[in-house]
Amino acid sequence: MAQVEFFTSAEDALFGEGGWDAVLVVSQEFALESHPELAQLVSHAASVDQRTGKEATLLLAPGLAGGRLLLAPTGDLSDDYEDVRRVYEAAEEGAKMAFRAGARAMLLLLDLPAGDPRYLNAAEVAALGVAQGLYLNPDVESQPRVRIGLMNGQDVVRLNALEAGRVAARDLCGGDPEQMAPPAFADYCVSLFAEEPVELSVIDDRQQLEREYPLLSAVSRASFNIARHAARVVRIDYNPEGEIHQTWLIAGKGVTFDTGGADLKVGGAMAGMSRDKGGAAAAAGFMKAVAMLRPQGIRVVAELGLVRNAAGSDAFVPDEIITSHAGIRVRIGNTDAEGRLVLADLLSHLREAAQGSPAPRVFSLATLTGHVVRAYGPYTGVVENSVARVSQQGQLMQQIGERWGEPVELSTLRREDFAQVAPRSESEDLLSSNNGASVNISRGHQFPQAFLLKASGLDRHQLASDLPIPYLHVDIAAAAVEKRDPLYGKPTARPVATLLAMMEEL
Ligand SMILES: [Zn+2]
Repeated sequence: MAQVEFFTSAEDALFGEGGWDAVLVVSQEFALESHPELAQLVSHAASVDQRTGKEATLLLAPGLAGGRLLLAPTGDLSDDYEDVRRVYEAAEEGAKMAFRAGARAMLLLLDLPAGDPRYLNAAEVAALGVAQGLYLNPDVESQPRVRIGLMNGQDVVRLNALEAGRVAARDLCGGDPEQMAPPAFADYCVSLFAEEPVELSVIDDRQQLEREYPLLSAVSRASFNIARHAARVVRIDYNPEGEIHQTWLIAGKGVTFDTGGADLKVGGAMAGMSRDKGGAAAAAGFMKAVAMLRPQGIRVVAELGLVRNAAGSDAFVPDEIITSHAGIRVRIGNTDAEGRLVLADLLSHLREAAQGSPAPRVFSLATLTGHVVRAYGPYTGVVENSVARVSQQGQLMQQIGERWGEPVELSTLRREDFAQVAPRSESEDLLSSNNGASVNISRGHQFPQAFLLKASGLDRHQLASDLPIPYLHVDIAAAAVEKRDPLYGKPTARPVATLLAMMEEL
């Protein structure tokens, strides 16, 4: 675990109270009107070094905490196309520099002109950026504890809970194929929630999995006989005392390694596929933050499908017809389109949980398609079902994601998306995918939601039904790791911060 912890800090901490050893200022112009002592140091430095305030810099600052003043410039924030990620990235870089300089107790001060709604949550986002910069995968032996003193009045209880969730999401997403194989992933969740007010269950029995999660089990078929790779379904249920007003139901794709299966990934495309569990990782991380904050009036249930998509003599192959938990006969188009198979059975169970639950809403979180990377670059793609669209759930997620430095692009589900998965013969009800890579198929990240709706039975909950259920499918294939680099990019824990803020707003 990374050892970052947030504290509230008062003004006198800047000048040595409390044992702080560096002052990190994130700013556009370093005007620092309410901190004239700091402004003076900056202007002295600028008189001998024109880079001051334009590049990340460490200034010798006698009298200040630790004698170190670090300037982390955001660049121009006024441009119409900029967003709060500038603040996040500046804080991330500044924190790394402070850490390399030896700081282990940093004060964080954000100095921005007020009033621009894009930067409403900039102080919280800066704190999260610092934590992102300092995060190390748990396999790194040295994990010094770093205290972060927050000077902008941020809510530290909320931030510590959110960051605990983000740490879990990064640990789970970033673990290598053995460290975070399905049983290890499940064990991590068991300890993560040991002290939390949630009900957690792990399904590990092969017969039960094959009966209740038949599509998921097909993906796992070549892995079941290797005990340390065998599939798991983890269910986490946060159900507080008192009246419940809304119910969140979240399915997370946790493909702990994706070889592509019989449709083997070739030409070097397999490396990085241990990160194909970012959706389940984010779902677990979100649950951790919720469990620590214990909100009233909302029940949150997550189902995580943990599977290794292996190639082998027992592997499932294209053309097989497998009946989903919802009773839909699915013809397999391509074994590398396995994420939707895992999600469909989880969503079917969540559909059952939605019956009789107050105001249910459904999410799927997944690193699902290469197409979303091609279509949207580094952004998360969100596809809405009709019910979510009419109630503008996707727009809400987009607005909140923007403010929290986790921007998303909205996609529209269309009739052509259903045509892509329509049956081709009387033997099946649904085709899982075409037989090529999603990246080469138009609407490759939209049409999987058509499949998910049909295969899970959620299509029975359209607008005119007795129980319309809003459903957002969140494809984080590009956003789950930094710099769109599945091989070596640090996990981002997206969209945990957005989900938490969204939950608070609904
Ligand atoms: Zn795949």
